[in-house]
Amino acid sequence: MPPDLTRLDCDVLVVGAGIGGLVSATQAAGRGWRTILATKGKIAGGASYFPKKASLGVQVTNDADDIEPFRYDIARAAQGMNDPSIVDAYLRDSPNVIDSLDAIGFEPWLRADGRPACFAAHARKIFMIGDWAGASQRARDIVAGNEAIVPLERTGLVRIQTEAGRVVGAVLERDGEWLLVRCKTMILATGGMASLYRHNLYPNHLYGGGHAAALEAGCELVNMEYIQFIPGLVSPRYKVLFGEHTLKYCTGMFDREGRDLLADMSASAAQAMWAERSTYAPFSTDYASRTFDTRMMQAIRAGSSGVRLTFHAALYEQRSDFYAVYLDWLKRDMGIDMCRDEICVAPFAHSCNGGIRIDDHGETAIAGLFAVGEVASAIEGANRLGGNSVGGSLVFARRAIETAARYIEADRRAPSFDEIERDFRRWCASFDAAATSTLAPAAASDMLRSVRERLWADANVLRDHASLSTSLDVLDALDAACNPLVCGFDAYHAVRVASVLMHAMRARTESRGAHFRSDFPTADPRPYRQIVSLRDGAIHIRREFDACE
Ligand SMILES: Cc1cc2nc3c(=O)[nH]c(=O)nc-3n(C[C@H](O)[C@H](O)[C@H](O)COP(=O)(O)OP(=O)(O)OC[C@H]3O[C@@H](n4cnc5c(N)ncnc54)[C@H](O)[C@@H]3O)c2cc1C
Repeated sequence: MPPDLTRLDCDVLVVGAGIGGLVSATQAAGRGWRTILATKGKIAGGASYFPKKASLGVQVTNDADDIEPFRYDIARAAQGMNDPSIVDAYLRDSPNVIDSLDAIGFEPWLRADGRPACFAAHARKIFMIGDWAGASQRARDIVAGNEAIVPLERTGLVRIQTEAGRVVGAVLERDGEWLLVRCKTMILATGGMASLYRHNLYPNHLYGGGHAAALEAGCELVNMEYIQFIPGLVSPRYKVLFGEHTLKYCTGMFDREGRDLLADMSASAAQAMWAERSTYAPFSTDYASRTFDTRMMQAIRAGSSGVRLTFHAALYEQRSDFYAVYLDWLKRDMGIDMCRDEICVAPFAHSCNGGIRIDDHGETAIAGLFAVGEVASAIEGANRLGGNSVGGSLVFARRAIETAARYIEADRRAPSFDEIERDFRRWCASFDAAATSTLAPAAASDMLRSVRERLWADANVLRDHASLSTSLDVLDALDAACNPLVCGFDAYHAVRVASVLMHAMRARTESRGAHFRSDFPTADPRPYRQIVSLRDGAIHIRREFDACE
C-alpha cells in the first residue's frame, strides 16, 4: 500500500508537457486558472522535442477554397475511420492556431517548396518548426515565469480519479513520493506509445500510460491497431529519422550478409518501387511499394539486424527545400553522408493514429477529462497525413480549454481529499488482496524488455493471427503476474497497452492503411472502427460499422 499521499489542489491538471500539454497549460494559465503541469519527462519533452529529427511540419487549411480538397485528403488517408465532426473542427480552426507555437517558444516558418504533405494529393500551407534545444529552453523559461503554472517533472500518472462519471483528480508518483491532485478538470497529453517497441523513433519513456489510465477510468480507445512504422537508421547512428524522399535515389537493398533483397525484381520494377515509396514516410499497405517494408521486415525476421541501402550520387544534387533541410541537418548534426556511409534501416515504431476517443472539443467519455495530442484519436483513421499530428495538438488543446471553462466556472461541490484518497486506497487494496505479483520489483525492467521484444517481432509491419496469438499468451502471463505496487506503473501500463495493441491487431482481419495482416492482405469492403473498452477488467473489442458508412 502506498505511504502518505501529498495533497495538491488546482483548477486544471495537465499531464504531459510536449506541445499538446504546453499549449493546454499556457492557455489555461492565460485564463488565470491554477494549473499543475505534470510530466514523466522534462518540461518541453516528448516526441515534440525529440532531437533526432530535422523539423516538424504542421499542415493547415489554406483558405475557404481548400476546405473540400483538404477534407478529401484527410478522408482518403483515414478511409472512413475517423469522426467527421472532429475533421470539421480541424478544417475550420487549423489556420488560426499557429500562434500557439510562438506562445510556447517556437519560431515557425512556412515551407516554400509546394510539395504536398505525406499521403496528401493537394499541396497546402505547411509551417515548420525546429531548433529543439533552443525551443525547449524557451518553453521552460515561459513555464517557469508563469505564476499560475506549477510544473512537476519526473512525475508519472498512476491513476485518474473519478466520481459519478466525472473526473475529480489523479494520483501521481514522483521519485517515490505519491501525490494526490484534486482538480476540476484534467487534460491528458501523454503522447503516443512507440517506446513499447524495441526500435522506435520516440523518447524512451512513452509506454502509453495515459491510454492505460484512461481505459481504466472508463474511456474508450479507437483504432489502436493503426500505429505507424517508419524506416529509421540502425547505423551508422542509431535511432535517427530516415528521409523517405531519399529513396528516389536508392540503387539497392541488401541484408547484412550482402544478399540482394530485390534480386527477383527487374530494374524498372525496382525503380518504380523506389519512386513511389519516396513519396510517403510511414508504411502503408495501400501502395504496391509496401514491398519495400515487407521485404525489409522479412529479412529482419530471418536474422538480419537491418537492411543496407545504397544511393546514387545525384541525391546530393537535389537542393529543393525538402531535400536540403534534411540532408544538411543529417550531415551537420548527425555526421552522416548517405552516399559515403553505410546506411542501414529497419521499421521503427512511430505515431499512433488511434487513441482515446474524444469529441470535437477533445472531451472523453468522462466528464471534465480531455485528451489532446497524440494520445487522442482525432482526425486520423487508417492513416494520417503528414503534419496533422502537431496541428491536432494545437487545435484540440485550444478547444479543450474553451470547453473546460464550463467545469472551472461551475459552482459544484468538490469531493473531499479524504473521499478521493479512500477510493484510491480501495483500488490499491484490490492488488494487495489479489496478491497476484509473482515478480520482484527488479523484474520490471525485464518485463518492459520482454514487451518491447514481443511487439517488435510480432506486432510490426508483418502480423498474422498465429504470431499475435503466441505473443498475447506471453503478455497475458505477464499481466497476471504484475502487481503495479510491486513492479511499478510503467510496467503495469506497458503490459496493458501492449495487450490492447495486439488484441486490436488480431481482431482487425483485413489490411488497410497502416495495418497489414499477411494472412488477410486485402481490405474489408465494409470499413469499421474498432473500439476498445474494459469489461470487468478484461479487454473488450467491438466493431463500429454504422458511423463509417
Ligand atoms: C521523428 C518524428 C517526426 C515527426 N514528424 C511529424 C511531422 O512532421 N508532423 C506532425 O504533425 N507530427 C510529426 N511527428 C509526430 C508528432 O511529433 C507528435 O505526434 C506530437 O509532437 C505529439 O505531441 P504530444 O504533445 O501529444 O505528445 P509528446 O510530445 O510526445 O509529449 C508527451 C508528454 O507526456 C509525458 N508522458 C508520457 N507518459 C506519461 C505518463 N505516464 N505520466 C506522465 N507524463 C507522461 C511525456 O514525458 C511528454 O512530456 C513526428 C514525430 C517524430 C518522433
